[in-house]
Amino acid sequence: MDRVYNFSAGPSALPGPVLERAQAELLDWQGSGMSVMEVSHRGPNFMEYAERAEAMLRELLAVPDEYRALFLAGGATLQFASIPLNLSVPGSTADYVVTGNWGKKAASEAARYLNVNIAADSAASGYTTIPDLGTWSVSDEAAYLHYTPNETVFGVEFHGIPDVSDAPLVADMSSTLLTRPIDVSRYGVIYAGAQKNLGAAGITLLIVREDLIGRARRETPGVIDYKLMADANSMWNTPPTFCWYILGLVLEWLRAQGGLTAVAERNRGKASKLYAAIDASDFYDNVVDPACRSWVNVPFKLATSELDQAFLDEAEAARLTNLKGHRLAGGMRASLYNAMPESGVDALIDFMADFEARRA
Ligand code: PMP
Repeated sequence: MDRVYNFSAGPSALPGPVLERAQAELLDWQGSGMSVMEVSHRGPNFMEYAERAEAMLRELLAVPDEYRALFLAGGATLQFASIPLNLSVPGSTADYVVTGNWGKKAASEAARYLNVNIAADSAASGYTTIPDLGTWSVSDEAAYLHYTPNETVFGVEFHGIPDVSDAPLVADMSSTLLTRPIDVSRYGVIYAGAQKNLGAAGITLLIVREDLIGRARRETPGVIDYKLMADANSMWNTPPTFCWYILGLVLEWLRAQGGLTAVAERNRGKASKLYAAIDASDFYDNVVDPACRSWVNVPFKLATSELDQAFLDEAEAARLTNLKGHRLAGGMRASLYNAMPESGVDALIDFMADFEARRA
């Protein structure tokens, strides 16, 4: 089958073996004579599968015992509201660090429920930098500090965990969770939508320290109340079973790749190859401060935007797809999540050199 190299920022490429396995099992999952979409989430087969997926996640990420993993619906965006509802009381304050549009959205959604203090904001740089940690103005009594370790649209990434506040650290890892090992113990809450590195859109992974569970405001809807969900092993209501199944297959695939240390090495290699090619060229440009360039979202511009459409058309013809940058950033963006093989990055670099030679 002729698959393309899909550089989409999300939903994005899934590993071939995951799709093949899902295809092979679609009509008859585990000898049940039914697809996984047709079985009860409370049946023994699914319950056992769900537990195994959680065990693999905990092993891959080395999740400490005092953290719960929740499998939720509603996308990362629902967490923008769930976090203040679960972690704060009315009238309290939370710190938000804004290094791109997703952090900005998280802050504006949270402002419905509490006082948002923007501790740092890199809008003035066009979201191409991370404000120096010494300049952040954190609140004394913040309920938590929220930040976005990787801003998917602008390709700005923290290459370290900010240590500026005693408040629980809350991280939107939608575009980087499972792309490398992380020290979970440094966080209060980590969350990520699945459609970049974890699987199919429709399930959101949340890793939360146990002492932060059980504080939800009285009016919090049950499906986003961390305690109700944790007590019910994320099955307080019907979970997105098919997405949970795909997530399990992705976790198995990650294990077969050698785990997150090996995966991180590959991801770092893919990104540095592409940045090196961009930096070596006078035709392509990435404007992000090199200290905070993303491993997984690489935005770049052509010397003239007049050639953008030709670039996209020719790339498409060369089976390199979804390279158009987000409308907020313009230009191009290559997303290099876990499922993008190195051969895809090589093909993109070759194509870029060829385009430059012919059109610059
Ligand atoms: N946060 C980040 C960093 C994202 O990249 C995205 C999606 N691109 C979101 C939040 C929103 O996720 P969802 O659409 O799953 O709500």
